[in-house]
Amino acid sequence: MGLYPLFADLTGLPVLVVGGGHVAERKIAALLAAGAQVRVGAPTLTPVLMQQVEEGKLEHHAGPFQPTWLNGMWLVIAATDDRDLNAQVAAAASERRIFANVVDDPALSRFQVPAVVDRAPLTVAISTGGAAPVIARRVRETLETELDHALGPLTALAQRHRARITQRWPDLPERRAFYDWLHDGPVMALLRNARSDEAEQVFLDALSATEAPASKGSVLLVGAGPGDPGLLTLRGLRALNQADVILHDSLVSEAVLVLARRDAERIDVGKRCGGRHTQQEQIHQLLLDLAQAGRRVVRLKGGDPFVFGRGGEEMEFLRQHGIPCEIVPGITAAVACAAYAGVPLTHRDHARSVHLLTGHGKESLDAMDWPALAQDHQTLAVYMGVARLDEFTQRLLQNGRRPDTPFVIIENGTLPQQRVVSGVLHELPARAREQAIHPPALLIIGEVAALAHEHAWFGSLHA
Ligand code: SAH
Repeated sequence: MGLYPLFADLTGLPVLVVGGGHVAERKIAALLAAGAQVRVGAPTLTPVLMQQVEEGKLEHHAGPFQPTWLNGMWLVIAATDDRDLNAQVAAAASERRIFANVVDDPALSRFQVPAVVDRAPLTVAISTGGAAPVIARRVRETLETELDHALGPLTALAQRHRARITQRWPDLPERRAFYDWLHDGPVMALLRNARSDEAEQVFLDALSATEAPASKGSVLLVGAGPGDPGLLTLRGLRALNQADVILHDSLVSEAVLVLARRDAERIDVGKRCGGRHTQQEQIHQLLLDLAQAGRRVVRLKGGDPFVFGRGGEEMEFLRQHGIPCEIVPGITAAVACAAYAGVPLTHRDHARSVHLLTGHGKESLDAMDWPALAQDHQTLAVYMGVARLDEFTQRLLQNGRRPDTPFVIIENGTLPQQRVVSGVLHELPARAREQAIHPPALLIIGEVAALAHEHAWFGSLHA
């Protein structure tokens, strides 16, 4: 027989917990949070429970269990480690028609306490009917990552204005459409961004407008991280789950893309288009067209969108055209590759600063302050540098960086095929050629790079 799920309003109702240990402590905390009037029955209490009794938050029946403790109770939880005693409590409760729960003992329990995902006032309760609590816990973990934290404030907002919503949209289909707009549109986005006043205003405007609010397109610039899907942020994951269309670079790994909503359209803008300039313009136009067509667009970029990712340009363009555009940061290649190679980017003994540089294009090399970069005890993290290793090395050496300064090159960082090649500055181009380094690869130059030998923990190190 299945269980009948219910949510109980315990405000002001007397509830008994038998047992004064740590399990009882957890149960009591949840009951107090639900507003119950809790009595604890046990010969001894944990210090926390004792304090709650002293503060008058909790009543205490001292001594061994007495069936009379149950008089006047609405619920009882038996949380002792003595199965016979728990059974006695359950039997006494049953005689008095009081619902009893015995912790971790479904056979003795009349009601069970579910695993909970809390987005108050929204609560998701999960039960396997006592069959396999571990499975319930796994489901809870999945939901914890997937359910947006802004669902709490969104539900609270709908709760405050529920009567007005029903009045404004008396027909169910229209009301549903309004709730869809609430969940998918600008109100939720504002709540997610800690802008609750604005969210409320947009909501109220929509309620008083004559037309139903139309779903507007939007663009989210999302950092996919360096490749390992475990390095995607929760926000990034949720964005992928909600996207109608995903425009991604070729650098974004397949392992990340499979996390997206199955029916989301995917466009690989890394390969599709031709020359560099047209490419960026075409991407801008594509983003604009899709958003103007009312679609939720995720622009997914390797690493972080704002680190050598042209995220700034895309954001500017979209804002100029009145398209809402937000950013979900990602773990940038320098941070991720350094970590996965065991190289701390800063270190009290070895590096006082980190410079993120790009070796892309001759102009960018000409524009750099080489005398400053050549000073010791600082870390240089070089993106897109594979093609210009010779020039890079030469300029550093010419400007006085020590020839024995350690370096590492991390190829395919954080991916299963990651390779780390190490050496010292004067032999850098030769080492890279000899090991046939291919993009994507990140170069780290600086005293800290030597630490890779001691701390490498992922993939292979070619010393
Ligand atoms: N926005 C990205 C950088 C894009 S530029 C970020 O924040 O990481 C592309 C360059 O990033 C590559 O040429 C390479 O130098 C570096 N890169 C990106 N992913 C990498 C990876 N998995 N391993 C090594 N280098 C990587």
